[in-house]
Amino acid sequence: MTSSTGRPPSVIVVTGPSGAGKGTLIREVLKRVPGVAHSVSATTRDLRPGEENGREYHFLTLEEFLDRIERGDLLEHVTYVSGHRYGTLRSEIDRITEKGKVPLLELETEGALKVKREVPGAVTIFISATVEELERRLRERATESTGEIGERIALARHQLEQADEFDYVVENDDLDRAVEELTELVRGLLAGVGTMARP
Ligand code: ADP
Ligand code: 5GP
Repeated sequence: MTSSTGRPPSVIVVTGPSGAGKGTLIREVLKRVPGVAHSVSATTRDLRPGEENGREYHFLTLEEFLDRIERGDLLEHVTYVSGHRYGTLRSEIDRITEKGKVPLLELETEGALKVKREVPGAVTIFISATVEELERRLRERATESTGEIGERIALARHQLEQADEFDYVVENDDLDRAVEELTELVRGLLAGVGTMARP
């Protein structure tokens, strides 16, 4: 089924379980589609090797994060595994929108559902993979402890059941194919045309 609103989305949210490949796919889409820009979230988790403050995230102390909530600076925020906090900065949405681009948000499912409910014109895309594959990728990525990987996988089982609540589902089995599919989907959305993933 094809739907056409003639208008690009206000924001595009990419969601799904940890290890699904959201970060990898988003990096590729950003290289290919100049009309979208990554909304850099705030988090209290530690930097991973290779990450830069202000590029992957704005890395904040818990005190700074709570202060941002208090000031009303966050569009949405959640506490994720191991008690780490993550939130979307309203200033990022404004910065990107003012440049005439559409903000691309990478959120876990709770935050994604909140944006879908509360932000008019938001479009949500769920990136999916099997639990076995998620576990394999997280172990191979090796950026979290074994305990935290276990927590992320336990949560992933629940998140995979929520896939139907989002506007589109992209299966990230073969990376090149998934990059192609997501890129075409985002291009279509920017042109005001959406091809529904499910009837
Ligand atoms: P997320 O942002 O959803 O947590 P990442 O983008 O960090 O996931 O991907 C998790 C790991 O899986 C990374 O090491 C990445 O290189 C790898 N990966 C991503 N997509 C694929 C794929 N289609 N096949 C195999 N490995 C993948
Ligand atoms: P990671 O620690 O792997 O970078 O991110 C953990 C999870 O937090 C991922 O599912 C990621 O999509 C999500 N996330 C990142 N930023 C935000 C945010 O601003 N809000 C919400 N709700 N989730 C976020």
